[in-house]
Amino acid sequence: MSNCITICPIGVVEEDILGRIAKCIEKRHGLMCKISPRMEKPKYAYDERRGQYDSKLILKHLIKCCPQDTLRFIAVTHVDLYVPILKFVFGLAQIEGQCAVISIHRLRPQFYNLPPDPDLLMARVEKTVLHELGHSLGLTHCRDRRCVMYSSTRIEDTDFKRSDYCPTCFELFRWYLDKCLISAHT
Ligand SMILES: [Zn+2]
Ligand SMILES: [Zn+2]
Repeated sequence: MSNCITICPIGVVEEDILGRIAKCIEKRHGLMCKISPRMEKPKYAYDERRGQYDSKLILKHLIKCCPQDTLRFIAVTHVDLYVPILKFVFGLAQIEGQCAVISIHRLRPQFYNLPPDPDLLMARVEKTVLHELGHSLGLTHCRDRRCVMYSSTRIEDTDFKRSDYCPTCFELFRWYLDKCLISAHT
């Protein structure tokens, strides 16, 4: 393991979005990011009845093919994700594990019949990535609605929160990250 975070597109994802995610993580946390070659659309996770993809099956697949030399493996996709008990999810992460996946599908203003807005889309993507990255390090949901670790069940929740951890979550984030980096180097 290294202190590098790998961003992996599943299906076609705009270079611009991947690059912005990498920059966001590098700038905020001083971690190196690299973008890996894309994976095929996850046909194995498609539920015909729902017209959506099972995020748990995708996560399982990611765990199997996660590169050895990466601290975290974050997949980004345009397909619509769900877990069986919910209508949809914006993303899913292995708690204190290496893998996470986020979906852009419901972050696009067009999904809500609004005109495209690249800045709004990127703000939502960044918040969703930081949220799942937090989970993957071991953070749980926060009760502060402005904290990026607040659970988004609607897009309004995502828009209301800041793209940052509250002081408590930030401190935990640093603590978990240091713990990971120490074990990565020993
Ligand atoms: Zn969450
Ligand atoms: Zn918080």
